[in-house]
Amino acid sequence: MNIVLIGPPASGKGTQAKLICEKYNLFHLSTGDAIRKIISEKGDLSHGLKGFVDKGLLVPDEIIVEVFKKYLNEIDTQNGILLDGFPRTLSQAQQLKDILKIDYIFEIRASLDSIISRIEDRIICEKCGTNYSFKKKGLSICERCGGKLVKRSDDTTEIVTNRYNDYTKLTHSVIDYYKNKQEYHQIDGEKSVNEVFDQICSIIESDKESE
Ligand code: AMP
Repeated sequence: MNIVLIGPPASGKGTQAKLICEKYNLFHLSTGDAIRKIISEKGDLSHGLKGFVDKGLLVPDEIIVEVFKKYLNEIDTQNGILLDGFPRTLSQAQQLKDILKIDYIFEIRASLDSIISRIEDRIICEKCGTNYSFKKKGLSICERCGGKLVKRSDDTTEIVTNRYNDYTKLTHSVIDYYKNKQEYHQIDGEKSVNEVFDQICSIIESDKESE
């Protein structure tokens, strides 16, 4: 089973990706992580890629598609993969169709207002990256690893608003491309983590039952 997960920054996409991969034993393929790995290995491609990433620019389609294909060959895709951060443009979505059969496209939807209130309340563990709601938990130390809980430096209203607007502009054509396909499902991302996860699982499980 191969899944594409799409969602705005701070929509809980990362948390859902983790939960889905754990439950269905999928490989979590984040193109952002793949690129950061290539950059850290300092090979032929690293310098060029770093230039784009450091400026917050998208890597051109022809390069990212090659990086993606190469990475696919190197990983264990036996049980399937969850794509996080790919495709981000119409051309990437069109090319993906010929590279991999996609069973589900889940678009997590959340308004900018709900995202801003979430990040205002979000603290993360500086050691293991676990997210917490400060209001709900009132913690200062991570329950998982004992690390210090801090605010992310990019969790400001201004930065998140910019990232949200960039995301909306960019993914518009990708969503248009997918929205009439039967693999596409819209998920209400304003619900709690468990409720969002339940929405996703119930779609997968009801397909399994009707098989
Ligand atoms: P992310 O961690 O997903 O925000 O990705 C970090 C950086 O990697 C982005 O700012 C882009 O420079 C690059 N990147 C990741 N995925 C893609 C993609 N699908 N297309 C183009 N560039 C990408």
